[in-house]
Amino acid sequence: MTGRAATILAAASCTFLLVLGFGCRNDEQADTQTQTAQRNTSEQPEQKGPQMSDKVIKTDEQWKQLLTDEQYRITRQKATEPAFSGKYDNFKETGSYRCVCCGNELFSSDTKFDSGCGWPSFRTPTSEDNIQTAIDKSLSKVRTEVLCSRCDAHLGHIFEDGPKPTGLRYCINSAALAFDPNKE
Ligand SMILES: [Zn+2]
Repeated sequence: MTGRAATILAAASCTFLLVLGFGCRNDEQADTQTQTAQRNTSEQPEQKGPQMSDKVIKTDEQWKQLLTDEQYRITRQKATEPAFSGKYDNFKETGSYRCVCCGNELFSSDTKFDSGCGWPSFRTPTSEDNIQTAIDKSLSKVRTEVLCSRCDAHLGHIFEDGPKPTGLRYCINSAALAFDPNKE
């Protein structure tokens, strides 16, 4: 009967094609930023840095034997070297800064910046585990003291006038540091 298979082809192909201009895309900007981002992802192996457990404890006499008079006064008696006098204040070599007392890795040259304050200044420590802080109320002001977490050496203070993004300035005595150049 009337069982006709009427094949209806999709009628005349619709020509509502919107030709969009995909030609121009700004990919150039991304390239310059990826270089800095890559450095932050290079984590150091866990075993490389000293562990919290291997605390270094010595008597005052033992520290005196080990350190110069200036290093002893600063790290063990919380003195401060005169501004612009330290050997690492105006020092731009690449490497890491260790605790002069125990060798704990504290800061990297990557985060050192020229603050103009007269002491080596860092944006951030190599590892939060390798330093500790304390409230220092000496000299009629309240400051945050920075110490080595491994041997309790006094290193310096933290101030909140550093560059972004941390806004922090780790203001450290040169005499509390031993520089370890990168071997490349
Ligand atoms: Zn130390």
